[in-house]
Amino acid sequence: MGEEKKMIYLDNAATTKTAPEVVEAMLPYFTELYGNPSSVYSFSQKSKEAITAARETIADTIGASPEEIYFTAGGSESDNWALKATAEAYRAKGNHIITTKIEHHAILHSAQWLEKNGYEVTYLDVDEYGVVKLDELKKAIRPTTILISVMFANNEIGTIQPIREIGAIAKEHGILFHTDAVQAYGQLPIHVDELGIDMLSSSAHKLNGPKGIGFLYIRRGVKIRSFVHGGAQERKRRAGTENVPGIVGYGAAAGRAAKTMEERTAKERSLRDHLIDRVLAEVPYTRLNGHRTDRLPNNANFSFQFVEGESLLIMLDMDGICGSSGSACTSGSLDPSHVLLAIGLPHEIAHGSLRLTLSEETTMEEIDYVVECIKKIVEKLRSMSPLYEDFMRRK
Ligand SMILES: *Cc1c(COP(=O)(O)O)cnc(C)c1O
Repeated sequence: MGEEKKMIYLDNAATTKTAPEVVEAMLPYFTELYGNPSSVYSFSQKSKEAITAARETIADTIGASPEEIYFTAGGSESDNWALKATAEAYRAKGNHIITTKIEHHAILHSAQWLEKNGYEVTYLDVDEYGVVKLDELKKAIRPTTILISVMFANNEIGTIQPIREIGAIAKEHGILFHTDAVQAYGQLPIHVDELGIDMLSSSAHKLNGPKGIGFLYIRRGVKIRSFVHGGAQERKRRAGTENVPGIVGYGAAAGRAAKTMEERTAKERSLRDHLIDRVLAEVPYTRLNGHRTDRLPNNANFSFQFVEGESLLIMLDMDGICGSSGSACTSGSLDPSHVLLAIGLPHEIAHGSLRLTLSEETTMEEIDYVVECIKKIVEKLRSMSPLYEDFMRRK
């Protein structure tokens, strides 16, 4: 019997392992401290206090006040809320929204929904590295623009946007600025005042917290309607009995991520660079997608010419390696990634892409093994490709 192959998980942009200490912090809130935070008896106060503590921890990590943090069911809900409810609340001022071509589908599909409901949306282009063009942003602003929504860092290619500059432009024109920071939060330092952010989306399961819990930061004074109608929870803006274990877990994960950020991301950055350097040096006809340095500490995204991304993923899986061809939401569809097309890749190159996203547990040994597997698999897939054969013959 062969030794069971160890799994190498390099899809941390899709989701992460819930940290054991996070699970431990959550457990009492299922079976012991299960009171409804809205009830009056003292047993429930324990639940209420736990929510208050988590809200304070989280607010602290982005330089916000606790009453500006609204818990949601994750990144998608936060994004939907930020766009749709702002659009409604500021309808008297205007009906124009600016976003980008490389947003997560939670933003893009919300924007498209708004377009069907009388709003106008500008989708900004990005450059070859996936960076928003600031002069295009300035040109896109109209008297009717009510919101700019630009993601903090991209989930596929890892590119970090010039958030401070965008925040300044928004402020100068009196326009609200929302950022989808689901990938950035916990990986990059964020201070909402210094960066001019009015709203920010996040999700716990991207930073070793549980799934199904996130928050939307809403700056005090921003008029935003409630998204879920019902009870008076979350300052009457998001009804529903609070996900107490989830909120406690998010507080624990956020505190932990803030505390370990410097050391953890330095380690990930150096392993990521090792991975990128080796793949680019040892696998011919390969490109790195995204910016070489302005990228998430744990993200590598490659395109291998003459290779079909899905085949590559399946063969990596046979070697025990979990990767992705783009975002988890687009896998399963045969359309090439909208992000890779937006940075100018032709369809056939975009189809041969691989995203590997590291965690704090990733080791150098794993990276070296992954590189060897990629070399072997890419060579094998190319040997079966008529396009590659043709290309080599012509050369
Ligand atoms: C994962 C992700 C989301 C969605 O978050 P969920 O909590 O899974 O709904 C939104 N935006 C970005 C950039 C993401 O990476």
